[in-house]
Order: sequence, then structure tokens, then C-alpha cells
Amino acid sequence: MKLPSLSGDILNNLVDVHCHLSEENIFSEVPKAVKAGITRFISSALCQEEFEWHMNTDHSAMKWSAGIHPNYKKSKESDFQTLVKLCDQKKIIALGEVGLDKRNKDSTWQKAILLKQLDLAANYDLPVIFHVVHQYYELHKLLKNNFPKIRGFLHAFSASKEIAETFSKYDLAFSIGCKHPKLNCLEYIAKRGFLLFETDAPYQKPPDSKQEENHLINLLWNVKTVSKLLKIQVDDLIEIQVGSYRSIF
Ligand SMILES: [Zn+2]
Repeated sequence: MKLPSLSGDILNNLVDVHCHLSEENIFSEVPKAVKAGITRFISSALCQEEFEWHMNTDHSAMKWSAGIHPNYKKSKESDFQTLVKLCDQKKIIALGEVGLDKRNKDSTWQKAILLKQLDLAANYDLPVIFHVVHQYYELHKLLKNNFPKIRGFLHAFSASKEIAETFSKYDLAFSIGCKHPKLNCLEYIAKRGFLLFETDAPYQKPPDSKQEENHLINLLWNVKTVSKLLKIQVDDLIEIQVGSYRSIF
């Protein structure tokens, strides 16, 4: 199957809704990605040092979020005070990535810090970027009981169709990263029409990639591959993404 070429105005609406920009990739990768049609990057800052870098880096294509990650060594509970300030000063456009991660055995701490951050997001009417590893049903329980009106997206969603159905009760989009969910799940997500694309660069590279880490330009690979799998034109997918992005931010 021949893929549609990526050109014109539609492509200029392509957003990488979740990546990690830093001194390592902002100058070497962002210009190339912008030239290829990716015009906005939502970068996630996850610790004091990353908050500071994002605050001191003014790039027209970059928007950013901040959060205390459930399983990132540098994320500290004491970062919460800075998060409040960042919300107050309108520096960030979302809280995240935050969530629940089975690899961290301290689930009591994870739940407590997540609830605190969801409360903060609700107070400032900010969307939330969720990181979830093998804890979807736990998260569902927590949202149902405390934040049923949550708004945002599940980043790098590659879980099952059943889980996608469960989370479709919420105002949450599914963000597709380089590791795709199974076809029946992708089809369900596309039909629901609330979807986004991301790289999570420099993490989560495409499955067959020989590169050492993920790169921003791989967003094009991601969208083209999903287009091929779903037999939906790239520009139609980007249009769905534009609508989803606008309804969240
Ligand atoms: Zn990430």
C-alpha cells in the first residue's frame, strides 16, 4: 500500500503531545521535526532540574507540563510546592506525567501523590497527562470515586480494547506512541474519535528501530504506520488529532 505523502497545511497541525525536550535534543531535533511539519511539542518536566530547564528555555514550538512521576528516581514529593507555583504562574499547560506504575512497589505513596496532583489540576482547571503501567483498573477506581470529570489523556496507550472501553467513560483521549495497541483496540479508539499522537522521545522508540533512543521525527513514522494499519488517510487522522487537541487544551 502506498502511503499518502505528508505535505501541505494539514500536516502543519501535527502535534507531539508527549515528549521530553532537553539540551540534548531541542537544538538538534526540533528544527528538523518542525521542517517536517510537526509544529508543536508538549514536553514533560518531572523533577526540579527539569522544571528549571523548561522555565529558562523559551522556544516557540514548545509547551510544557510538569508532574511528580510515580516511578522516576528524580521525582520528589517535595517538588509539589514548585508545581503549585508553576500552576499559579500559568507556566504549564497540563499536569503530568502523573499516574500509577506497578514497577514501583509503594502503591500507597503513588496514590497519595497522584490524588494531590489531581486535586491541583482540578483547582487550576488543567488537563492531566497520565502514565499508567499495569494499573489501569486501580486508576479507574480512583478516578470514578474522586475525579469522574477528569480531562486529559492517557499517554502511550497500548493496553487492551476492554481497558480502552472502560476509560472511554471519561473525558480522556488515548495518545498513541510508537508501541501500538492491538488492531481491534486501535480501531475502537479511532471510531471513538478522541486520539492524539506522541513519541515520548527520547524514550519508547519504534519496535524495529536500531537507534539507541527515540527521536522526535519518529512521530511521522507513528502516524504513517497507524494510517496504514487502520486504512485511514494520514490527513484524516491528523484532523481527528486536531479536534482532540483543541477539546483538551
Ligand atoms: Zn514520558
